[in-house]
Amino acid sequence: MVTKQSLVDLVSTYQPDLDAVLLMDACNFSEKAHSHQKRASGEPYFQHPLEVSEILASMKLDVASIITGLLHDTVEDTEVTLEDITEHFGGEVASLVDGVTKLTKIEYQSDQQRQAENFRKLLIAMSKDIRVLLIKLADRLHNMRTIGFVKSRDKRLRISHETMDIYSPLAERLGIQHLKNELQDLAFQELYPEVRLSIIKRLEFLRKQDETMIDRVIRNITDVVKDNVNLIEVTGRQKTPCSIWRKMESKNIGFEQLSDIVAFRIIVKDIDDCYKALGAIHNKYHMVPDSFKDYISTPKNNGYQSLHTVVMGPERQVVEVQIRTDHMHEVAEYGVAAHWSYKQKKDYSTDGKQFRWMRELLEILERAEGPEEFLEHTKLEMYYDQVFCFTPKGDLIAMPKGATPVDFAYAVHSGVGHNCVGAKINGRIVPLRTELHNGDQVEIITSKTQVPSPSWEKFVVTGKARSEIRRFVRQQQRAEYVNLGKAIISKAFREEGREFKEKALDTVLEHFHKTDIDELYAAVGEGNINKNDIITTLFPDRKVTKNKKNLFSFFRKNAKHPITSKGNHALPITGLMPGMALHFAGCCHPLPGEKIVGIVNTGKGVTIHTTDCEVLSNYTDTPERWIDVGWDQESLDSIHIGRLKLIVSHESGTLASLSNSIAKDLGNINNLKIITRSSDFFEILVDVEVRGTRHLTNIISSLRALECVHSVERYKD
Ligand code: MN
Repeated sequence: MVTKQSLVDLVSTYQPDLDAVLLMDACNFSEKAHSHQKRASGEPYFQHPLEVSEILASMKLDVASIITGLLHDTVEDTEVTLEDITEHFGGEVASLVDGVTKLTKIEYQSDQQRQAENFRKLLIAMSKDIRVLLIKLADRLHNMRTIGFVKSRDKRLRISHETMDIYSPLAERLGIQHLKNELQDLAFQELYPEVRLSIIKRLEFLRKQDETMIDRVIRNITDVVKDNVNLIEVTGRQKTPCSIWRKMESKNIGFEQLSDIVAFRIIVKDIDDCYKALGAIHNKYHMVPDSFKDYISTPKNNGYQSLHTVVMGPERQVVEVQIRTDHMHEVAEYGVAAHWSYKQKKDYSTDGKQFRWMRELLEILERAEGPEEFLEHTKLEMYYDQVFCFTPKGDLIAMPKGATPVDFAYAVHSGVGHNCVGAKINGRIVPLRTELHNGDQVEIITSKTQVPSPSWEKFVVTGKARSEIRRFVRQQQRAEYVNLGKAIISKAFREEGREFKEKALDTVLEHFHKTDIDELYAAVGEGNINKNDIITTLFPDRKVTKNKKNLFSFFRKNAKHPITSKGNHALPITGLMPGMALHFAGCCHPLPGEKIVGIVNTGKGVTIHTTDCEVLSNYTDTPERWIDVGWDQESLDSIHIGRLKLIVSHESGTLASLSNSIAKDLGNINNLKIITRSSDFFEILVDVEVRGTRHLTNIISSLRALECVHSVERYKD
C-alpha cells in the first residue's frame, strides 16, 4: 500500500533535488483536509489522492503535478480554498488544482449531455496546461481501480462507459499506452464481465497447452536478429482481453479464428537497426500480406513510432512483431508524459505538432451547435484508424480512415474545402466521395464560385469537414429565409397600399421577441410568423382583407385539361446499339441539348443521366457500364420532362398565373407536387413537358417575371 513516505521516496528516485519537506507538507495538508471523509471502500479518503500521486510519480511527472495529485479533491470536497493552496504551495499548483476541479464540478441532466460537457471542459482545461489532463487521467485510473466498491450498478456502468469512450481514447491520443490499456481493461471488466472471463479462460488454456511457447519464440527471434543489429531486448506478451475482444468484434470472427493473440517486441538501439531487424525477420519468416505498417517514417498523431509486421512465426503460428528503438519505446509507454516530465521544466503549453488534433477539436468545439453534436464529431475522431495523404507539395495530412477528398480539402484549409469542385488522386480525376488510401497524393481543384453542397455531409468523416459544411448550409438556409421573409413582408405592405419601410419593423421586433430585423425576416420566411400578424401589429386599425381562396381550387379545374403525350422516344439518342431499351433518369431529368451519359442496366436497357448527376458516382467502379451518348438532331424537337422547384406566394390566383405563363410559352404541366406549405408561401415541384433546355429556360424566365413567384430553379435530386 502506498504511504506518505513511500511516495516521497519514489519521487526522490527521479528528482534528486526534491524538497522532501514540501512534499510531506502537501501530504499532511491533504490528509488533514480529508480527515472526516471516507471512500466507498471504507478506507480514509486520503488514500485516494495519495494513490493518484503515486500514479503520477510512476510517470515521473514534476513535483507541481505530484502535489496537485495530493490536493486535487480538496477544493471540491473540503473547506480548503484556492487561496489557501496559493498561500501554502504557490500559484502554479493552485492553477493546476483549479483546472482539475473545474472538470468535475457541474452536473447535467442527461448522461449524453453530461459526458459531452465533461469532455468539453476537459479539452478547454488541458489546452491551457497538459498536466491537468494527466492528473485527471490518474484520478480516473484510481477511481476505476476501486470501482468495485461503488454500490450503484448504474453509476458503475456510467463511469465505465465514460472511461471507455473518453478517457481511454484520450490516454491513447496522448500516447500513454499502459494507461490506456489499464483504463480500457478495467472498464471492459465492468461492462462485459462474462465476455472478459471467457477470453481469459481461453488464453489461460492456450498458455497451459504450451507453457514455453512465448519463451521459445523470443529465443528464435533473438537468434534471427542479434547478429545484424544492436539489440537491446526481445519481449513477448499475450494481448489484453479487451484488445482481443475488439478485434473479434471488428472482424466479426470467433476466438478460434483469431490468429495473433501474442505480440512480440524487438527493442534496438537506433532507427537503422529497426529496418535491419525488419529485414532479418522478413527474410526468415513469411510475412502476412498487407500487415506491414511503418510508423517510423509517418508517426501517428500522438507521436508514436514503430514498425509493425505480422509473420508466420517459427512454429507456424501467426505472430505480430513490433520493432522500435528504446527512445521510441519510452514515448510509446509514456507518450506525452515522456515529453513533459520533470526533465523539461518549462513549456507546458500545447504547442508542438502532436497537439494539432487537440487544436482541431477545440476548433470544432467552437462551431458545434451543442455538446451532443460535438461528442458525435469527437468520438469519430478518436476511434477511426488513420490514413496519411500528401499535398502536391509533399506536406503530410493525417485523417481518419474513410476520409474523402472533401475531408482532405477541409483539413488543408476551410477556404479550400468551401471552394472545392473536384480532386485528383495521384494525378487522376476522381469523384469527391472517393475514399482516400494511405500514401495518396491529393490535389484539390477549387473554384471561387463553388459553395459546399449539403450532400457532402453524407460522405465526409472528419468532424472538421462536417461541422464546416453544416455551418455553411445553416448560414445559407438562413440567408434564403431572410430573403424570402423580406419579400413576403414587403408584398404585404403593398397589398395594404402602403410603402414598405424597413424602419417601421423596428417597432414590432420586441412584440415578436426578435433582436434584429433579419431574425424577423427569417421567422416569416420559415413560416413561424404570419405576415398578417405583423401587419395587424403595425396597423391595428386596418380593414380586414379578403378571404384567402384555396390554392388548389384553380389547379383542380385546370388539371382536367387533357395532356397529350407527343413523346416519341424512337431514337432521340445517338451512340446506342439498335434494340436497346432506353430510360431517362428520374433523378436528373436530362433535356435535349444537355451533356449526357448512358448507364447499362443488365436486362433493363440503358438509363440516360446528365453528366453532372450525383447518382453517377455509384458507377465509378464499373466503367464498363458507361456508354458515350449524345442527342439525336431530331430529338432537339421531341418532348421531355423538365422539373422545376418554385417558391410562390400562398394567395388566390397564383396557380392561374403559373399555368398561364407556362402555357403561353407552349409548355405543358405534367405533374405538380407541394413540398412545403406555410401560411404565406408554398414550395412546389412542377414537371413541364418541353422541347429541350432552351425551351425550359424560356419558361423559367417568364415565371421569374411573375409577381407571385419568389424563386424558380431547375430541380435535381
Ligand atoms: Mn479524485
